[in-house]
Amino acid sequence: MSHVFPRHCHAQPPMAVAGDGCFLIDQSGKRYFDGSGGAAVSCIGHSNERVKQAIKDQVDQLAFAHTGFFTSDPAEQLADLLVANAPEGIERVYFVSGGSEATEAAIKLARQYFTERGEPQRRHLIARRQSYHGNTLGALAAGGNEWRRQQFSPLLIDVSHVDPCYEYAERQEGESLYDYGQRAAQALEDEILRLGPDTVMAFMAEPVVGATLGAVPPVEGYFTRIREICGKYGVLLILDEVMCGMGRTGHLFACNADNVRPDILCIAKGLGAGYQPIGAMLCSGEIYQTISEGTGFFQHGHTYIGHPVAAAAGLAVVSEMLDNDLIAQVQARGAYLHQQLLSRFGQHPNVGDIRGRGLFQGLEFVADRDTKTPFDPAKAVAKRFKKVAFEEGLICYPMPGTRDGKVGDHVLLAPPFIASEAELDGVVEILSRTLDRVL
Ligand code: PLP
Repeated sequence: MSHVFPRHCHAQPPMAVAGDGCFLIDQSGKRYFDGSGGAAVSCIGHSNERVKQAIKDQVDQLAFAHTGFFTSDPAEQLADLLVANAPEGIERVYFVSGGSEATEAAIKLARQYFTERGEPQRRHLIARRQSYHGNTLGALAAGGNEWRRQQFSPLLIDVSHVDPCYEYAERQEGESLYDYGQRAAQALEDEILRLGPDTVMAFMAEPVVGATLGAVPPVEGYFTRIREICGKYGVLLILDEVMCGMGRTGHLFACNADNVRPDILCIAKGLGAGYQPIGAMLCSGEIYQTISEGTGFFQHGHTYIGHPVAAAAGLAVVSEMLDNDLIAQVQARGAYLHQQLLSRFGQHPNVGDIRGRGLFQGLEFVADRDTKTPFDPAKAVAKRFKKVAFEEGLICYPMPGTRDGKVGDHVLLAPPFIASEAELDGVVEILSRTLDRVL
């Protein structure tokens, strides 16, 4: 009997024993194409020599030094590299071990920023419905996925949720994309006014929504308006790029595509690419300065922040992307994958929408294409899709709809940036067989 407490108590997953490029291999020798990078983690494949070597070298040189006493060369170099490529105004990097830690730290930094500015009444966080920002209590409170929150709700801080920018489901007939985006953004201003502008500290959103909606990019103009609204009321804009950042959407930082400047930016997953657990919260010089000139101490911190080996891995991952122009490759292969998905499933009666950016693509399944009616949750389409695709040798990321009847079952694809066109063709083949078997 295994003593591991697994994610799913009644499932006995195979044992992964090796990684080879875009593939994972189990103990029976079966190969699985990693079509979702786990959960958008393994962006440069599973056997990158440069990253492996960087980790080995760092362990030999220095395995650990607590940030209460030291900084380290890989952490300094990685912070420099991230800031050099980050949106304007971002100046500081606070390293953590993963995505939930990054969003949790962002919420606390927003709060501390305002207490240090002498605005302690600013305590409200606004986020969006059908969102996910992590599983620790603060991050879970920020998330707007009711199913995940339900049983923990007595433990969660009060967060307001407004509708996301989700054109497929929410745009009205005759409404232009632009007008829809402005309407979706207006929900934020309305909520700020309802709460009282001087009580709101921050708005948190994913630039391209990953797990909860399935690779949904914003419509043009949405984030420009969001930025304006935040600026108008002095509300901090926190962008959660834990899943969509680090090259995944064809830009190192996803928000660069929409030209939006966040005050706080969270990254993780692709930063360590699965080689090490690492995430980061980046913030503006203004926020940093306020803390620095105030108490001088961000009242947060975990033992493993700024871990040298994790930072060395992150440095090698980002350098690998930049040196080999992998981000341009994401744009090209992403366009290829999108086209293949459209030509194979564009007319499928149960595929309502195919969307995404870069190598971050989603398919939404519907019972009725014309009315966009989601499948009955009892059909458990996403669950069966995951199982069948896995049997067929494909790791993908299906998610059930949000059970409020608004979001259908969908599957998220986030293959490694190094995937060839032939490998992406293979993904589409397996998706097609899986759809035939599931629906
Ligand atoms: N934020 C987003 C947008 C995510 O997709 C995730 C994880 O899927 C998280 C935060 C939490 O990251 P982690 O699982 O590394 O804690």
